[in-house]
Amino acid sequence: MAAAAGMALPSGIIATLATLAQEDCMKIHGRCHCGSISFTAEADPSKVMVCHCTDCQTMSGAPFRAVIPVSAQGFALTGSPKVYIKTAQSGNRRAQAFCGECGTPLYATSPEAPAVYGIRLGCVAERALLRPAKQVWTVSAMPWIHDLGSVPGVPGQ
Ligand SMILES: [Zn+2]
Ligand SMILES: [Zn+2]
Repeated sequence: MAAAAGMALPSGIIATLATLAQEDCMKIHGRCHCGSISFTAEADPSKVMVCHCTDCQTMSGAPFRAVIPVSAQGFALTGSPKVYIKTAQSGNRRAQAFCGECGTPLYATSPEAPAVYGIRLGCVAERALLRPAKQVWTVSAMPWIHDLGSVPGVPGQ
């Protein structure tokens, strides 16, 4: 709460703000499949979203991509990901980081000034606790994506 320094806020309010900030965030841990790259971050579990855009489908190798945004401040990376710069039709450029050894997608961020990292949920250890709160680009969602609950399944292979 550095912003509160020097401001005449009652200590009760400062304590409440600090508690809120802690409650909103959880520490997450991620790594690629081969283990060459790992990271930790402070994430707000209410910010998880699913993207059904065709780029996410292609680049994740999956019918959709789940992402949790984290701020650069709490993001600590070990290892050197490969980066692919994706240029959208709008001209918007995104740095897409992945492991050059095993190919695991890790995050996307701004190539120029990374302030937020869009962490790929699939490589996060705590992913089962991180429920999506929003879906975008549903226009290109697989027509069967919301029917998986009725597809027969077995616990293993
Ligand atoms: Zn790897
Ligand atoms: Zn997308």
